[in-house]
Amino acid sequence: MDYSIALIPGDGIGPEVAAPAVKALDALGDKFGHVFHYAELLAGGRAIDETGVPLPPETLEAAGQCGALLLGAMGGPGWDALPGELRPERALLGLRKGLGVFVNLRPVALYPHLRSACPLKDEVLASSNPEGKAAFDFLIVRELTGGIYFGGRGRSEDGSSAWDTEMYSRTEIERVLCAAYAAAGTRRKKVCVVDKANVLESSRLWRETSAAVSARFPEIETSYLYVDNAAMQLIRAPGSFDVIVTSNMFGDILSDEASVLTGSIGLLPSASLAGVPRPGGEKGCPLMGIYEPIHGSAPDIAGKNIANPLGTILSAAMMLRYSFGLENEAAALEAAVDAVLEEGLRTEDIAVKNGGERIVGTKEMGEAVVRKLERS
Ligand code: NAD
Repeated sequence: MDYSIALIPGDGIGPEVAAPAVKALDALGDKFGHVFHYAELLAGGRAIDETGVPLPPETLEAAGQCGALLLGAMGGPGWDALPGELRPERALLGLRKGLGVFVNLRPVALYPHLRSACPLKDEVLASSNPEGKAAFDFLIVRELTGGIYFGGRGRSEDGSSAWDTEMYSRTEIERVLCAAYAAAGTRRKKVCVVDKANVLESSRLWRETSAAVSARFPEIETSYLYVDNAAMQLIRAPGSFDVIVTSNMFGDILSDEASVLTGSIGLLPSASLAGVPRPGGEKGCPLMGIYEPIHGSAPDIAGKNIANPLGTILSAAMMLRYSFGLENEAAALEAAVDAVLEEGLRTEDIAVKNGGERIVGTKEMGEAVVRKLERS
């Protein structure tokens, strides 16, 4: 079958990590008899340089006509001095809002072969896991088009004070909670709602809404944590979590923290979806999604061929699963990544240099995944 993908490589390491993901998709296409058509689009810093705005209207329109959007990363110091509305990151917010992708799934798991890249001690990991395993596997479900990133903001006339507004409607909270409960139903059946309900009125609405939604899912265990405690428990007991559901800003911050436990932010994929995913993908009912690694444009390592492309490759796997309903293909891509890591290949960010590992560059890591796919 033919599938259309909007492709925005973006800035910094974005193009470097997007290229291996495209190669892996093409290898999968050859293997399974699919053709992926890419519409390469401009957004972010490159778009500012070429068109004067971070998100040209034709980019949003073209992306909306594709089945999914695969994105590298946006931003960088060259554009930091621009006013807020003209910064590259505005394109991300515009794409999320414009494509209606309101829920962001961020799976966080420790690959057994990457145990040594996780900074936690064995006893901490084992004591936090009900099965006593030195591993964790949880999913952060982040609200994506509301809250403080989209609320009213401004400055006083003399510029000496500024504000940003955290505002949520019951509907916005409810649909994200539904996605979290649906995900938990296919996992270990536990949802932890993270908020700051001891201080924030918007968080109290999250609690009220989750009390109502949780009643519809009696088979799922619901717990609550304040975000400051959640930040601590992620380090103390990552194995105790199954699904964490939270607001836009809290999810942004907690998932960067969580990524460190896996070894590197370069490993983590994400899917931003315009609906609640059903188990086994959305065959026959395409779900628009933006798929991107959770990291930024990493200007400090851009152009050096050392960025880890696996977060982007795994994001492509999520795209196959959620937007195209290609579960077998998604699983094949994830297995290829797993096999490459098992073989001992490491980009610098996940290398522990204990002798048994082979340090490779971005391109070489991508090529290794493609070879695994071709031989599987
Ligand atoms: P960042 O995620 O780009 O980098 C944080 C650290 O992680 C850096 O040390 C970087 O080298 C490292 N890192 C990131 N990705 C990596 C990878 N694939 N492999 C190895 N190491 C990796 O965050 P930042 O430095 O705070 O932001 C840089 C720019 O990216 C800023 O302009 C920011 O606004 C933007 N940003 C964009 C997105 C996005 O496009 N979705 C997300 C976050 C930040």
